[in-house]
Amino acid sequence: MKKLLSLLFLTGAAWAEPQVFPAAEPVQGRVLLVAEDGQKEAAALAGAGIECLLSRAKTPEELSQDWKWAQNEGDLTLIGLGARAPLAWQSKVQGMICLDANPHPGHYTGILKPTVEGVDHAKVDPERGLPYERSLNPAQPLFLVAPETSDEICQQLQGNVHKAAGSLAEANSAVQKEVRRWIAIQQPLPVIGLPDSKFIPSPNWGVRSLGDKIDTVVVHSTVINTLEGTERAFWDDKERRVSAHYVVDRDGTTVQMVDERRTAWHAGVSELEGRTGVNDFSVGIELVNLNDGRDPYTEAQYQAVQRIIQDLRGRWEVPDSHIVSHAAIARPVGRKSDPVGFDFAKLLKML
Ligand SMILES: [Zn+2]
Repeated sequence: MKKLLSLLFLTGAAWAEPQVFPAAEPVQGRVLLVAEDGQKEAAALAGAGIECLLSRAKTPEELSQDWKWAQNEGDLTLIGLGARAPLAWQSKVQGMICLDANPHPGHYTGILKPTVEGVDHAKVDPERGLPYERSLNPAQPLFLVAPETSDEICQQLQGNVHKAAGSLAEANSAVQKEVRRWIAIQQPLPVIGLPDSKFIPSPNWGVRSLGDKIDTVVVHSTVINTLEGTERAFWDDKERRVSAHYVVDRDGTTVQMVDERRTAWHAGVSELEGRTGVNDFSVGIELVNLNDGRDPYTEAQYQAVQRIIQDLRGRWEVPDSHIVSHAAIARPVGRKSDPVGFDFAKLLKML
């Protein structure tokens, strides 16, 4: 279902008429964008399913008013765009994004180290942050700079510095994907999923259109030969829009990439017992395996899948008949073969 999002233009205390943008997907996050103009960027975020409020604040006082107003309706990420990025930085709002193509390090000095207080990042070590690319710390700001930015300047900036090409106004640009991923990291609710597994948030996820009804597990094999390569495909591949909730390495190491409450994009066109769009009601588990019929699934992988399913059955009702292969649900029939050679009878006995 398409939702209409209202885009409000805030100018400190003075208000302009709200504009309405249709969103391609349900709301996946909320952003307060502080910018000199920002209309195109706000429209693009709305198009990507992110509710965007626009602030034209010029001073820290105005921004603080807009922030307080916008915060009333729940989780919010502050983005400072271009010339307004230093203003966002000064606000010291936790988890902000400074989107500055050519940052001047002198504009970004003297910030306090925010704590993770008030944000329930379950099991996050505040010193190290989430175990994520370059050990990004979600309590620190994210800098998105142009790819040609010198390493010297990047080192002078505090926080997490990422080089990303393209514009926020461009659908699926590298910058937009970074913003989506950051919003995923910033979700203040604890990650729902397997305890003690490493969490590497993928930007490829959606809101479950069936709400919380999860009753199916889809088992896949990655075809990609390594855990690292699979992680990269799910969080950093600029072309593919794929992900799974869990990836299990040959030694049983399990990485979670999407909160179970959200849809991961693993099944594609699919059907189970007459219900289409299996992503909506399933959890996807990827096993690192070449899917060539010769590469064996390890005992550790069976045990990890057993552990994942036993754990998620504490949250969702998943009957044995709904523990299925990708091959069984992919449409048209024969589109997928994975996981070739995986012994479902053995798995069911273990459960
Ligand atoms: Zn698959």
